[in-house]
Amino acid sequence: MGLETEFEIPVLTTTVESVVQWARKSAIWPVTFGLACCAIEMMAMASSRYDISRFGAEVFRGSPRQSDLMIIAGRLSRKMAPSLRRIYDQMPEPKWVISMGACASCGGVFDNYAIVQGSDQVVPIDVFIPGCPPRPESIIYAIVQLQKKIAASKMDQTPKVRIA
Ligand code: SF4
Repeated sequence: MGLETEFEIPVLTTTVESVVQWARKSAIWPVTFGLACCAIEMMAMASSRYDISRFGAEVFRGSPRQSDLMIIAGRLSRKMAPSLRRIYDQMPEPKWVISMGACASCGGVFDNYAIVQGSDQVVPIDVFIPGCPPRPESIIYAIVQLQKKIAASKMDQTPKVRIA
């Protein structure tokens, strides 16, 4: 954005890409989806005490087709992984994923055959949040980091490489 001063009145100029990326980062709609105890902290993030609506990401959608953010909140079992992948595939482009907590990011304390040892084996992850469980402030911080990532990306960025 720039301020042009050679006209009789000051004129602000910008680019379509800046406006689109500003709109995308300012209205992130997470899909309503939680896997385990971390999901309680995710719900708290949307409550009045923490108020994620200050950052435009409070509109949890009931359908993946209306969502552009998946927060993997909790441990991901091998049985659940295909369903998570299907929900991710149903989300329209562009879309982003936050891996919330130790279990989603690396299996956490569940180092066994039933739990996926890192949700990045199933979907591409944009931001990882450490902790067990991460506090709502941590999720808000992750969303702010994601907003910076969206603002710095190109509008016509090709979709991320997907693991089938
Ligand atoms: S990281 Fe902790 S709070 Fe989150 S799902 Fe795992 S055990 Fe539960």
